[in-house]
Amino acid sequence: TMINLEDFCLSLVEELQITTNNHIIAFCSQAQSPNVCLDKKLLRHILTNLISNAIKYSPQGGTVHFELVCDRTTVVFYIQDQGIGIPEVDQTQLFHSFFRASNVGTISGTGLGLAIVKKSVDLHSGKIAVESKLGVGTKFTLTLPLNN
Ligand code: ATP
Ligand code: MG
Repeated sequence: TMINLEDFCLSLVEELQITTNNHIIAFCSQAQSPNVCLDKKLLRHILTNLISNAIKYSPQGGTVHFELVCDRTTVVFYIQDQGIGIPEVDQTQLFHSFFRASNVGTISGTGLGLAIVKKSVDLHSGKIAVESKLGVGTKFTLTLPLNN
């Protein structure tokens, strides 16, 4: 079905913002927001995982930046936090089932969220990449092809 990307993101942010009092989810996108043909449920699942992680692994008061950029053929989502970061040695294993980085401390989780996200992204011929600096923050880049 056709969805308006900006409307979709704004309502997801509104929904996720309710789950946290202590973080700000800051959304930004380009001027035009195209209507695209994308799987709503899939997109919601992937973005919810990434934004929830950004919240969970950030200190109270942190800002989560969520950005949407797209052209005719591709949509790119950036989810960036100012949280605990991920040790470099752990970054290649993030998408493996049950993997948790060595610096999670008392933050609980099963280590399955990103493994499932990665499978969904692969199934839709997308890409997901991570850049992170320990103690500084993490940025996930999700790229999905648009089928016009
Ligand atoms: P859950 O299955 O409940 O999501 P989880 O959050 O531990 O548990 P994943 O979402 O798969 O599992 O993430 C895997 C690991 O990657 C996390 O345990 C954490 O070490 C690291 N991680 C993921 N996102 C971030 C982030 N934004 N900042 C820091 N570390 C992160
Ligand atoms: Mg998670």
